Amino acid sequence: MNIFFDLDGTLIDSRQRLYQLFQSLVSTSDLSFDKYWELKRSKISHKEILSSKFNYSEEQYMDFEKRWMSEIESEKWLKLDIPFEGISDLLIHLSKNHVLFIVTARQSESIALKQVKSFGWENIFSKVLVTQQQQEKHDLIKNIAQINREDWIIGDTGKDIQTGKLLGIKTAAVLSGFLSKESLLSYQPDIIINTVLDLEIDKITNGKL
Ligand SMILES: [Mg+2]
Repeated sequence: MNIFFDLDGTLIDSRQRLYQLFQSLVSTSDLSFDKYWELKRSKISHKEILSSKFNYSEEQYMDFEKRWMSEIESEKWLKLDIPFEGISDLLIHLSKNHVLFIVTARQSESIALKQVKSFGWENIFSKVLVTQQQQEKHDLIKNIAQINREDWIIGDTGKDIQTGKLLGIKTAAVLSGFLSKESLLSYQPDIIINTVLDLEIDKITNGKL
């Protein structure tokens, strides 16, 4: 079976990267890491945070957004990303019996590939699919893989779950990333688990969940 993994918030902890970049761009911000993520996990957008807490005008927000997109995948911030503990062993184990993919909405394919390689994962995944913010995840998947309804997609956002539903495959939402359980429930994933480490893939394969 195919298993499609989202990258940020699913296989790797990117929360420091996003938080630190936010702090660097918003010089007046005194938000703690926990407070920032409490807001984000409740689906409060940067635009709402900036206008309600920091009095940003539309123009200031546009400038923030532009700088956010240009810096978010830079070396300086990407080095803050860390794979969740135990994830490499799990991926190696799964790759023995399943075909694994990464599907990410990153802007840069080459930078995403370089980072995957830096974690020693280059031989684990059949392919790393990068939308480059120009394609939808479900289109990328459709074009490369023969989809079966027993396949799984695992991700931390509503978009990941919607992607799985569009493809007619099974969906697992993880709480290790950018959304809370309450936020993810509305997308109706097949299962919600704390982290990818909780994937009981044998049970999933046998349809026992
Ligand atoms: Mg993600």
